[in-house]
Amino acid sequence: AKKYVVLRPFEGVPKESDFKIEEETLRDIEDGEFLAEAVYMSVDPYQRMKLGNEYPCDMIGGQIAKVVESKHPEYAVGAWVMGHFGWRTHTVAAPAAAASCAQQPYVYPLPDFGDLPPSLGLGVLGRVGNTAYFGLTQLCRPRAGETVVVTGAAGAVGSHVGQIARILGCRVLGFAGSDAKCRWLQELGFTAAANYTTADVRDFLKQHAPDGVDCYFDNVGGEISSTIISQMNPFGRIAVCGSISSYNETNKENCKATILQPYIVSKQLSMEGFLVNRFASRTMEGIAQNLQWVRDGRLKYREHIWDGFHQAPQAFIGLFSGANTGKTIVKV
Ligand code: NDP
Repeated sequence: AKKYVVLRPFEGVPKESDFKIEEETLRDIEDGEFLAEAVYMSVDPYQRMKLGNEYPCDMIGGQIAKVVESKHPEYAVGAWVMGHFGWRTHTVAAPAAAASCAQQPYVYPLPDFGDLPPSLGLGVLGRVGNTAYFGLTQLCRPRAGETVVVTGAAGAVGSHVGQIARILGCRVLGFAGSDAKCRWLQELGFTAAANYTTADVRDFLKQHAPDGVDCYFDNVGGEISSTIISQMNPFGRIAVCGSISSYNETNKENCKATILQPYIVSKQLSMEGFLVNRFASRTMEGIAQNLQWVRDGRLKYREHIWDGFHQAPQAFIGLFSGANTGKTIVKV
């Protein structure tokens, strides 16, 4: 078996030299356990966080795996599972021990996706799809006819947020880092999309949201978010999902502070951060709803698949340069 260890805390943009592949010998499985073989590994911005107090440490992450040996009645050999096993090829999994973990379900049998690929369990039919679904519906609470703005719009979460808002009858404006990504967003049904590296964000909003912005799903933070928030309507709702524009800033003190309070007060805005784990008990509900929309052809997805276990660090680094469109995955 092989696994990735992270040698030191990431500094600035993560580097390939921060990672090392190590061999590991696994013990035999016991009653109530199974052996999982990774097929797809998830690559997500949150993996950039501090991973522990001591380094080297194991790389964290979700994976879609196949059960190859089992002494657990609910996990038969050949079954697909979703597990937060980290970046490793093989795992001795103990679902009972994992159940006491307060995190998003640590391991669960993959629901039946029919003829859809099991890798979707890392994206639209998993944590990412649920982040979009619950963050938008529970925090932004958009009503039909309202205008929703999404940043990081061509990424895994953002591309689903925009489409779900369209399904709910909203106008949707997206910001992404290239013209090609913006063209894809228009194919997905976004009302309009702009390349934030070249467009004037304020002018774009004035043109495409002449009646103001009602909901903002924030994936990136930073200056663009302040500009969008300044254009919001009274009683607007902001779901703060992530702030990827600052993840690689070594000295967070350097991040420009923008004074948002005047907008929040005068327009009586609600701004709330969330972690998808908050909705862990509703995981299957979110997956079922997104699956229904995928089957109906209303929710489209793109997977950016890197081929080979050895590609994982590059795939991860690519998140921070916008190399991906849609969900980033490594096929082991
Ligand atoms: P994405 O697939 O969106 O990948 C990251 C994208 O971020 C890149 O493609 C890039 O797109 C964009 N990006 C990178 N650097 C910057 C920057 N400096 N400024 C603006 N955009 C940047 O990842 P996810 O969909 O998995 O995650 C999106 C966000 O949601 C992240 O902030 C993540 O941390 C957060 N998240 C939060 C969760 C929660 O529970 N709250 C759960 C899951 C994700 P581009 O080319 O457009 O710049």
